[in-house]
Amino acid sequence: MSENKLIPFDCRDGFIWLDGQFVDWKDAKIHVLTHGLHYGSCVYEGQRAYSGKVFKLREHTERLYRSAAIMDFKIPFSIAEIEAATKELLLKNGLVDGYVRPVVWRGPEQMSTSARNSKIHMAIACWHWGKYFDSSASKGIKLTIADWRRPPPSSSPFEAKSSGHYMIATLSKHQAENNGFHDALMLDWRGQVAEATSANIFFTQGNTLHTPIPDCFLNGITRQTIIALAQSKGYDVVERVILPEELDKFEECFLTGTAAEITPVRSINNYEFTPDKICQDMLLSYQSLTQNMENKND
Ligand code: PMP
Repeated sequence: MSENKLIPFDCRDGFIWLDGQFVDWKDAKIHVLTHGLHYGSCVYEGQRAYSGKVFKLREHTERLYRSAAIMDFKIPFSIAEIEAATKELLLKNGLVDGYVRPVVWRGPEQMSTSARNSKIHMAIACWHWGKYFDSSASKGIKLTIADWRRPPPSSSPFEAKSSGHYMIATLSKHQAENNGFHDALMLDWRGQVAEATSANIFFTQGNTLHTPIPDCFLNGITRQTIIALAQSKGYDVVERVILPEELDKFEECFLTGTAAEITPVRSINNYEFTPDKICQDMLLSYQSLTQNMENKND
């Protein structure tokens, strides 16, 4: 990771799959008058490959399709074509463990709110991406509560993993980093605990895991995996309204996400947590699942 860290993303070597063709990494370009760039008409996925296989590839591809449908896009490739392209792309780039980014957007044919005649484009890129948080996070990350809140379902199609949703995530993350935190916890419009800027959140009390109901933010694939894993190991999992005032009742706290994997949390503002047995158990169980790939799509 470290040697790649400083290389801008448009200056790397390798191949990117663009609209059905493998092109040289540096040639994977779009025009500045692209609708997706100006109007946020863009959806994407974040996937991880472990030992050469994308974990939950089918679930991610299906979510990409759902996101696209919500945004009124018709992806011009089938699920089988996308999955085959993903596998070939990993091989062509010689990537065994890394991150995969499919993205779908509206092209430059029309530049106005209405974009019915714009063409739908799709690309897939992949690169090496180690831990999501830097080494200072090894004993758990420090979160602060963001000023920005997750909007109500009536204000944004929250089930779509669309790039527009990441505007407040980036603002919140920058504010957190400027103040010495690793990331931000976002509340929703009601003031209830929602999620981090790009990962879901869990808390523990005894042998019970508590996590907010995903009724205005992404119900992450890792979140669903962890709920099933925890239940199979005999933990109780409660999806419920969690208020920020309750944070002092919890013992452990961790984030879940494809990029973040299982990341223990050390503090949220002045609330402290001690990453312990449950964090460790979830971390190791998730690791073993991704390595053994019982869910791999061959
Ligand atoms: N919430 C947001 C806002 C995210 O960007 C992500 C990462 N995709 C998640 C939650 C976790 O989702 P997943 O586990 O599917 O990666």
